[in-house]
Amino acid sequence: MLSGMPKKSPASPKPPARAPFRLYDLKIVVEKAAGQPMICNHQEGDFFELRGENLSLPAGQTFPIYSLAAVLPLLPAKQRETHPNDWMTTDAVIACPDPHCGGRFRILRTGTSVFDHAAVTAVPLSAPKSSTKSRKRAR
Ligand SMILES: [Zn+2]
Repeated sequence: MLSGMPKKSPASPKPPARAPFRLYDLKIVVEKAAGQPMICNHQEGDFFELRGENLSLPAGQTFPIYSLAAVLPLLPAKQRETHPNDWMTTDAVIACPDPHCGGRFRILRTGTSVFDHAAVTAVPLSAPKSSTKSRKRAR
């Protein structure tokens, strides 16, 4: 959990070394595709923001869960540094899952925030790494 405070163990002789890492702060803004009506309950200019694991909306604004479900899977990747040639770097507009709706959701990287490893997970940095064996997709 990114918003948690560092876990302090009374049995621990010394606190773990700081291990900072940086994530992008995101702002997801509703746009409207030309010539298509808005069907869902999102209006052009509506937005929500994501910092770490915390999503926030302006006071009084709502956001449809179906639209949110379309955007959510991409957000953790957009929070992280991506290769310049990766489509995740260049592509930033997600279409509304309602095929009749003109809603588009632009993901903007608005800044960065620094988090500390020990504050966001109980798994120590010295934990064994998972297998690095490459996997190829069967076709
Ligand atoms: Zn929509």
